[in-house]
Amino acid sequence: MLSLSHDFADAVPALATPWAAAPAPQARLLVLNEELATSLGLDPSFLRSPAGVQTLVGAAVPEGAVPVAQAYAGHQFGGFSPRLGDGRALLLGELRAPDGALRDLHLKGSGATPYARAGDGLAAVGPMLREYVMSEAMHALGIPTTRSLAVVATGREVQREVALAGAVLVRTASSHLRVGSVEYARGTGDIAVLRDVVDYAIARHHPEVSGDDVPALGLFRAVVAAQADLVAKWMLVGFIHGVMNTDNMTLSGETIDYGPCAFLDAYDPATAFSSIDTAGRYAYGNQPYIAEWNLARLAEAMLPLFDDDLERAVAMAQEALARFRPLFAAARSAGMRRKLGFADADADADADAETVGVADDEVEALAGELHEMLERARADYTSSFRALSDAARGDATTLSRALGGDAALGVWLERWRAHAPDPVVMDAANPIYIPRNHLVEEALAAASAGDLEPLGWLTTVLSTPFTERSGAERYAEPAGADFVAGFRTFCGT
Ligand code: AMP
Ligand code: MG
Repeated sequence: MLSLSHDFADAVPALATPWAAAPAPQARLLVLNEELATSLGLDPSFLRSPAGVQTLVGAAVPEGAVPVAQAYAGHQFGGFSPRLGDGRALLLGELRAPDGALRDLHLKGSGATPYARAGDGLAAVGPMLREYVMSEAMHALGIPTTRSLAVVATGREVQREVALAGAVLVRTASSHLRVGSVEYARGTGDIAVLRDVVDYAIARHHPEVSGDDVPALGLFRAVVAAQADLVAKWMLVGFIHGVMNTDNMTLSGETIDYGPCAFLDAYDPATAFSSIDTAGRYAYGNQPYIAEWNLARLAEAMLPLFDDDLERAVAMAQEALARFRPLFAAARSAGMRRKLGFADADADADADAETVGVADDEVEALAGELHEMLERARADYTSSFRALSDAARGDATTLSRALGGDAALGVWLERWRAHAPDPVVMDAANPIYIPRNHLVEEALAAASAGDLEPLGWLTTVLSTPFTERSGAERYAEPAGADFVAGFRTFCGT
């Protein structure tokens, strides 16, 4: 059995609307993340049982649990929506994992709530399996993210352009607090509500700042740091979130809301896959700026807790926000260093003398030139970086082909090799397998037709993205140019 607390509902009642999931009489488990279940102290065989499946869709409420729809606001594509909230989701409650951490157990697709507005409160099998695949791939790549525990088909029909099979995704997170949660609290006009949500975020994520002179400022600084690190990690693997609205940005620094996200294939910073992002606001290359913009919205919402004097409060916010760019640059540069096969800048003196001491400027210069070549050739981002390992081992044929025989490569290789790049460092930083758009589409199409095997294979391959797996060659290969050119993603599906 499952035992859940209702910490959030107790601590921030103004943002918690008790609600029940829609019944799912034909519930059928499609995928269960046994590894995650076990790490949470949950028994996979219970979760597979009829009672377990009913719990996973929210139809059977664990004793003591108080499922709630969470209220939040959000800046969507730059415009403010004061009332969004969980329109088709529920926080079942929090779970104390064996490692001591408190985790949210959350449902998506569990029926319309008071925040549903015009929506039907439902989700289809395909998009929920997609979130499962993408979030678990991100976790395997070492990127902070919400995790997916299970996808359950509900037996309900969901009307989209055509009728689709409905599903519930069960996900976990270190919390579902968003920038938009704080914006909503601020919007109530009640400073006590703002204080509740900020205090709860501090208790949950950064108890170390609770003794600061201005704990809210300590929290803001910590969120700035967590987001700088997160977005740097996205950039380093070519992840495009696709809908970085403030309601889709966590305070924890975990990636959340896998709607229209996709990985970059042909390298071009202007890439935006989302069908509704026509202006490219959330394009790959814009992500750090958008994160900073979102953090400015967070600071605005928190101002009354920084200082009673507005001028001083704004100065504090600006100073804290100014840390974003250097923190992002440092995280990106540290990652780029590893992608190029150089040991960490602060590696100690007894490390291999050949691999320490590549200056930051040199890393930046090499990375900059390599990215120019990648962009000129519209080269596949992931496989090109992986081909660097071969180049470090002496064979640059694959890399040269990927870069379309760029004439600048020879000089670049000479300069790079002079620093003795370590292919072992590179192999641990440049994945072979990412959830390539054509593979995800293919697995989801099969799953929607009732065949879950391709999806199982895909998730298995993606679970060890840095390790070559025999028989998995096609999972490492880019899609054909036709697929790449026409690929679009969709949100809210
Ligand atoms: P998203 O684009 O997924 O971040 O969602 C933005 C807002 O729309 C959130 O408040 C969601 O809860 C809500 N929403 C998205 N899809 C639905 C749906 N099918 N029914 C009700 N609300 C939805
Ligand atoms: Mg969302």
